[in-house]
Amino acid sequence: MEGQCFCAGVAYQLTPPTDFAGHCHCQSCRQASGAPMLSWTSVPNRQFTLLRGHELVREYSSSERVTWSFCGRCGTTLFYRSQATPEKTYITVASLTSLLDRPLESHVSYEEKPAWFDLSPGVPRYFAKTDIPIDRIQLPDLDSLIPPDPHILNGFSRSNPDYRYRAAQSYEQTYFPKTLALLRQRAALAESWEPLLRTILRGFAYRWLDGYVSGEGTMPQADLTETMDWMDAQLSQYFSPQQFTAYQEWRQSPDNPMAFLFLVHSNNSGPDRP
Ligand SMILES: [Zn+2]
Ligand SMILES: [Zn+2]
Repeated sequence: MEGQCFCAGVAYQLTPPTDFAGHCHCQSCRQASGAPMLSWTSVPNRQFTLLRGHELVREYSSSERVTWSFCGRCGTTLFYRSQATPEKTYITVASLTSLLDRPLESHVSYEEKPAWFDLSPGVPRYFAKTDIPIDRIQLPDLDSLIPPDPHILNGFSRSNPDYRYRAAQSYEQTYFPKTLALLRQRAALAESWEPLLRTILRGFAYRWLDGYVSGEGTMPQADLTETMDWMDAQLSQYFSPQQFTAYQEWRQSPDNPMAFLFLVHSNNSGPDRP
């Protein structure tokens, strides 16, 4: 299969089979292309050959780990590479001049699709770059929660009504990066799960702190069970049985910096941290 940019200065060849083909609705793809969405396929690097135009190809890293390649003369978005999958080259389906060897089979990052862009039905639509159907995503209702206010003084006294917000913000900054990385590693979850996991964990932290504050620094078994059940119910919507088992092991893991939240706290010596 062959493809080229608009001015034909850059041309490439792919050896089938491709790995997948999907439409991406994320904001990065929109801005990189100036179009409502970008359709992508990928091949292992050894199945990709740049035929001409090496000198024309320009690269842009929108973040440390990714590189977008464009034609420097006509601006066509051509390729994408990520350190998360260094063995693959992603190619824009629209720049192919040959027929793709498979149908377009998914819509990814569907939640980022702008309302003004309409689509015909019939192709599955997914949350972020996961295999979770978009209709199954029901994020915890965090609307009723006041966001943390960084200007509140004396934030870590439990007598301060804003304790909950300060503590939740602090948990998020201090513990979330490591605890989420550990969960993803144990349950073999791609980086694209991060926003969903983060949202659920944030919901858990707020609920947990509600119980802890109203219990005046205690976390009785009943409250803890209710809070844990909430998180289990959220995650069981999305996890396979194996992933759910890995998540349960993650809770108890000594490497998990949030493991202290999953224990009964029966007195005021509880987790007034950090
Ligand atoms: Zn060009
Ligand atoms: Zn995208």
